[in-house]
Amino acid sequence: MHPNPESTAGSEHWFERAQKVSPGGVNSPVRAFRAVGGTPRFMAEGSGPWITDVDGRRYVDLVGSWGPMLLGHAHPEVVAAVQEAAARGTSFGTPSVPEVELAEEIVARTPVDEVRLVSSGTEATMSAVRLARGFTGRDMVVKFAGCYHGHVDPLLAEAGSGVVTLGIPGTPGVPAHVTADTVVLPYNDREAAMAAFAELGPRIACVITEAAAGNMGVVPPEPGFNRFLAETCSAHGALFISDEVMTGFRVTRSGHWGLDGAVEGWRPDLLTFGKVMGGGFPAAAFGGRADVMEQLAPSGPVYQAGTLSGNPIATTAGLTTLRLADDAAYARIDQTSAELQTLVTEALEKEGVPHVVQTAGNMFSVFWGVEEPVRDFAGAQAQDTGRFTAFFHAMLDAGVYLPPSAFETWFVSAAHDEEALSRMAEALPAAARAAAREDTSA
Ligand SMILES: *Cc1c(COP(=O)(O)O)cnc(C)c1O
Repeated sequence: MHPNPESTAGSEHWFERAQKVSPGGVNSPVRAFRAVGGTPRFMAEGSGPWITDVDGRRYVDLVGSWGPMLLGHAHPEVVAAVQEAAARGTSFGTPSVPEVELAEEIVARTPVDEVRLVSSGTEATMSAVRLARGFTGRDMVVKFAGCYHGHVDPLLAEAGSGVVTLGIPGTPGVPAHVTADTVVLPYNDREAAMAAFAELGPRIACVITEAAAGNMGVVPPEPGFNRFLAETCSAHGALFISDEVMTGFRVTRSGHWGLDGAVEGWRPDLLTFGKVMGGGFPAAAFGGRADVMEQLAPSGPVYQAGTLSGNPIATTAGLTTLRLADDAAYARIDQTSAELQTLVTEALEKEGVPHVVQTAGNMFSVFWGVEEPVRDFAGAQAQDTGRFTAFFHAMLDAGVYLPPSAFETWFVSAAHDEEALSRMAEALPAAARAAAREDTSA
């Protein structure tokens, strides 16, 4: 089949084949475009801010592999480092040098004393919760509605990301007894947290929260909220787990903690990382206080392991990415993100589309058909997703690839340049008009 950018025949062809051999034709649910309809695009290559599908259609990418591609696609130095590492062998199952160097880089940038490397964000949060339970000898886990921590059984209760996108209410396959020790509270709600601790304090092993919620759209913590959680945990002998899988090494060189904890003078007991730290490869981590981390096998009794953990290719990609992610890179990403937010706001205001743009550092998303800032999951779910769908397809047709759900974060990279911004500026007026026509709130 010859690529023809005028059509989507190539993506349609591969999607048909994929659906015959994989559930829904995908390996992660939101990729299937169920929330927005249409054919998911099969990407063939990427370079800087651009991705190209199998039909040869070129898009400005605002998904960035859901966050990891901080430097843009196929950064030459990352590619070269990976090629060199691969030629030396792809996995040893022994300790190796790049995993130590990556751990050192993480310890240098964030408030963790020690880290354990794993292969996905899901594994990181799962292991952090196990460690918190093992360390405290308690069972209960507090999480917030709309926060997503990977597909960890006890953390899937009222989760964000694909769980909300697909409107899956509970999670079949998770036995009731597994979530019996999970307490779900409204995000940004101090009273609810205080009430939970008043009632269950001595049984609570940990509170886990996204450092800034980015899986129900972007809902930042209200000022002091994370600090309040850290202090409340400390007062009750529970551990505070800050999930920085999305925000880590993205919103500042030391993640979201660089925006609150570092300024206010507190630190979480445990943190989880993923996405950016793998440089586009499967690498993630959890880390924190030395006395807690030392409870992990082989130092301590809490078991955790992984055949490919600390994989030399993944850790080389992550280390190279982090070394290139200097202050100048973050400043550029912040600047581009702000410019793009302005473009989106202007286009939507011109067409009278009610909306709110919300940010957490350089991460942002748009809530559609709402007038007030969104502070929790109920607010996020009250938006008019029909407007987003119309907007999404108009942008896609004009060569801008947005996350195919109104509940996901838009990611800008250090490679997004003037050309990428002007492609978006050109696409926005028609997309805003499409969103204006689509008033499904009545
Ligand atoms: C993406 C994400 C995860 C899960 O990471 P995977 O690598 O997809 O398993 C966990 N927590 C947060 C906050 C995330 O954004």
